[in-house]
Amino acid sequence: MADIPALLRRFAIQPKRSLGQNFLVDEAALERIVAAAELKPGDSVLEIGPGLGTLTRRLAESVTSTGRVVAVELDERLIPVLRFTLAPYPNVELVHGDILELDPVELIRGGRMHVASYRVVANLPYYITSAVLRHLLEARIRPTRLVLTVQLEVAARLTAGPGEMSLLAVSVQAYGRPRLVTRLKAGAFYPPPKVDSAVVRVDLYEQPLVPPEELEAFFEVVRAGFGERRKQLRNALSRGLQRDAQTVATALARAGVDPARRAETLSPEEWVRVYQALM
Ligand code: SAM
Repeated sequence: MADIPALLRRFAIQPKRSLGQNFLVDEAALERIVAAAELKPGDSVLEIGPGLGTLTRRLAESVTSTGRVVAVELDERLIPVLRFTLAPYPNVELVHGDILELDPVELIRGGRMHVASYRVVANLPYYITSAVLRHLLEARIRPTRLVLTVQLEVAARLTAGPGEMSLLAVSVQAYGRPRLVTRLKAGAFYPPPKVDSAVVRVDLYEQPLVPPEELEAFFEVVRAGFGERRKQLRNALSRGLQRDAQTVATALARAGVDPARRAETLSPEEWVRVYQALM
């Protein structure tokens, strides 16, 4: 792995900060990411941003020749490098494109009718973390697990519990259970980023906490609740949803949630009860 700078030199590539190009060079970190994915022979994996293929190779070995890794890389300069480093792995399908413009289901399906269940592994460019999460959670067929390397601060927000919840935490926890796998120091990457990172694993529920056709209405309520920071729920919801305060207070009481509580103290299950009481 110490060869990453050499590989970049050989292909005359300068890592682009604008694409979040901090490549993993720490063997223990790579092992922990692969272990968190818990892949079996025959599994299908979507990797976002394979970079130089360092993680991709390990994923390809884990799923063996009966499995498949679809690796989507945006930077065209890295495609020849990936062709070179991944040449010994015929079970890797390299796609040049922007993950946000591509349908994860089509990528995994790859021309076949049947869509296998799939897992996503990604060392993400930090500026697209939220957009990628949303893209994956709203996919027609959702992955069963995500193993994401994200900024440490984002990992803390994703895995937060009642007392420190945010719109991002509820948005992810409505679909699955996130947990922190490990923290990564900046030195685990080349070049080192300015912030520390962490690996987060999200196990998706078979169904989100509310039926898929109600998610939009559910998130409207949650967004309204978080709309006015540090405001009591009764007032934030009343303003955000344009309902009178008494109706909201009655609904909150029905949901068993004190109207004077603040949005950040509610668990995802309490949000579901609040949403149902307001319907
Ligand atoms: N997986 C490699 C590793 O761990 O060493 C590289 C990770 S690097 C943090 C992020 C990678 O995502 C870069 O290779 C970058 O070019 C790629 N990337 C950035 N935006 C992307 C997008 N929208 N779609 C696909 N890949 C993207």
